[in-house]
Amino acid sequence: MFGNKTITGSNLPTRKKITVLAKEAECYLSEANYEKSFITSRLALQQALTINDDYLIARSYKNIASTYEDLFEYEKAVFYYKKGLVYADKTRNDTIKHAFNNNLGNIYCFEKKQFDKGLNYYKKSLEYGYKIADTSQVFITELNLAWAYFYTKNFEKGKSYLDFINTYKSKYGDKTTMVALNMLNGMYYGEKAEYKKAKSFFLEAIKLGNEGDQKWDLSYSHEEYAMLLMKMGNYKEAYENLVLFNKIKADLDNSDRQKKANAAGVNLELDEYKRKVDVIEHENELQYKSLQQSRIIVILFLIISGVFLLLIYSLYKNYNFKKKKNSELIVANEQLSTAKEKAEVASQLKSQFVSTITHELRTPLYGVLGITNMLLDEHKELANSPHLSSLKFSARYLLSLVNDVLQINKIEENRIVLENLTFNIADEINMIKNSLSFIAKNHSNSINVNIDPKIPEYLIGDKLRFSQILINLVSNALKFTKNGDININAHLIKIENRLHYIEFKIQDNGVGIAEEDQEKIFEKFVQIGRKEIDYQGTGLGLSIVKRLLELFNSTISLESKIGEGTTFTFTIAFDYDTIKTTSLINNIQVDLTTGQMFKVLVVDDNAINQLVTKKIIEKHNYKCTVVDSGLSALEILETAQFDVILMDINMPLMNGFETTRRIRKKGIDTPVIALTAYDKEEISEEAISAGINDILIKPFAVSLLVKTINQLIYKVKEGTLV
Ligand code: ADP
Repeated sequence: MFGNKTITGSNLPTRKKITVLAKEAECYLSEANYEKSFITSRLALQQALTINDDYLIARSYKNIASTYEDLFEYEKAVFYYKKGLVYADKTRNDTIKHAFNNNLGNIYCFEKKQFDKGLNYYKKSLEYGYKIADTSQVFITELNLAWAYFYTKNFEKGKSYLDFINTYKSKYGDKTTMVALNMLNGMYYGEKAEYKKAKSFFLEAIKLGNEGDQKWDLSYSHEEYAMLLMKMGNYKEAYENLVLFNKIKADLDNSDRQKKANAAGVNLELDEYKRKVDVIEHENELQYKSLQQSRIIVILFLIISGVFLLLIYSLYKNYNFKKKKNSELIVANEQLSTAKEKAEVASQLKSQFVSTITHELRTPLYGVLGITNMLLDEHKELANSPHLSSLKFSARYLLSLVNDVLQINKIEENRIVLENLTFNIADEINMIKNSLSFIAKNHSNSINVNIDPKIPEYLIGDKLRFSQILINLVSNALKFTKNGDININAHLIKIENRLHYIEFKIQDNGVGIAEEDQEKIFEKFVQIGRKEIDYQGTGLGLSIVKRLLELFNSTISLESKIGEGTTFTFTIAFDYDTIKTTSLINNIQVDLTTGQMFKVLVVDDNAINQLVTKKIIEKHNYKCTVVDSGLSALEILETAQFDVILMDINMPLMNGFETTRRIRKKGIDTPVIALTAYDKEEISEEAISAGINDILIKPFAVSLLVKTINQLIYKVKEGTLV
């Protein structure tokens, strides 16, 4: 019956069922069936606790407390009333709150005789009574209050309550309250010495008491009436009433005893009941705790899930963000790589364009220069013609510009690789000095060369690039100096392994360079405007110098003061190798200008070039045959023999490489010198594979052409031609 029922959704008792149980318990109590009242209210309590219904819990406690009260177990009654009151206070039901307070007031005032506490409970009960606007409930409490005050002889305070019950007696008074009401009036008027009035009230109370069931009230009425009669001096009647009081009380005590005796069986079990109620409460507490715990677990779970969801959400967002960024990056990368490709293509196109244009320019320029020279040679009277010299100057200027642009272009494309050649540094510098002596004279400058004797005679390095650096710097010095000195200093500063670090200083005492221009002049096409000096430059010289020095892993520095002069300084590490040097020294230069008549075949499609080359060849006493295509060359070689072939590379239909290849196929070993506007590096591989023996870059120095021709013919004769 009292099994440990756990809370499961479907088995939960309904409010209705519990209310029925509570009512049942109240019925048992009114029938004085205490045991059943206990069992039923305890069951109601257990079920009310399981569904956590404060009102029904309070009501069950009230029934338990009332049962104890009926069994004179006031302590326990107070205990359960108070417990119930806690639950009742949680509800909005003022009726039950009123009942709890009223009952507690009863016990405190009339059983425990603690009037202060009791009165407080009554007053609280009254507050709730007024709230529920149920004057019948209020009526009883007001009556109780009046009685409590009168009992303690506090008639003034009790009067207002008496007035209230007198006012409402016809409406709310019934047989159960009328005895007490009349008795209280009797007491009041007795106190006020209105004996007649008092007497009639007491007599009415006794009359009603005898008619009804309110035997306790009847007994008290006799007692109080006896006291009034005593006061009135009517001792006989007073005695008679006291006898009646005692008799009724004795009867009632008897029946109470009987009741107690009846309840004894119950009493024995009272503690057991209490213990069981405690167990119910304990279980409920445990359930509550576990409910709390599971609530905490659920809350924690929810929080963790929330955090987890947030985490997943942020991961998801992050992932999406990354994905988006990644795809953006991929797109950007693609765009970049296409842009890069485009830029590369553009740059390739640009350099191709520059290289094609410059090559194309070099060929006609070569013609212009050649023809100018021819004109000067043939018509000595024109030597002083300003037009001709201006033509020659312009052609040279154009050629140098074209060469400079080509070179810068090549450096920027990283197409220049330094060569390692053995050379004599002193010779090289002096050669430069000599070749520039003409410009030096023009400006009345003198060039002084100062070479450290510690520098070995022969060094290994790219002498061509080195010369170019030096030529640029010295010719600048010459251009910007008048009546001055230009010093070329070479100084050995250190030797590391075989590397000889030589510091070069090109010093002039010319116009100088302003400080603010000293950085700029190394940029491409930068020239500093100089009104006083009329010179032609491309603005590329120093940028070529700077870039060439970078190839040598070197940098250039400059010191200059306006009006005082300029010094450019740089250091180059040249290799020094005795074995190479010795072999070079042993390779004696042979002068082959024997005046012997050699036969030269010139293969060139350009009429002007044909003319220029022919003139040069014939001027040096060689016999020259000219053909204008590769095919004609092959044809003529069928019948005629030549000592050397000068082969133009750029020819339509069959270029110089192809022609040479075919010549070699025929088994003709005649040395072939390629004449081209291309740079040596660009074509040397193909030239070698085609069977070309040497390459001359247009425009070439006549002496170089003669020297090359002679060397090759000499090698053929020696049998050393490779
Ligand atoms: P350019 O081919 O026009 O000479 P450069 O790049 O060689 O171009 O020189 C750039 C500028 O630097 C020149 O225009 C000139 O003003 C200045 N410059 C170069 N060398 C000297 C020097 N030794 N003295 C004075 N000015 C110089």
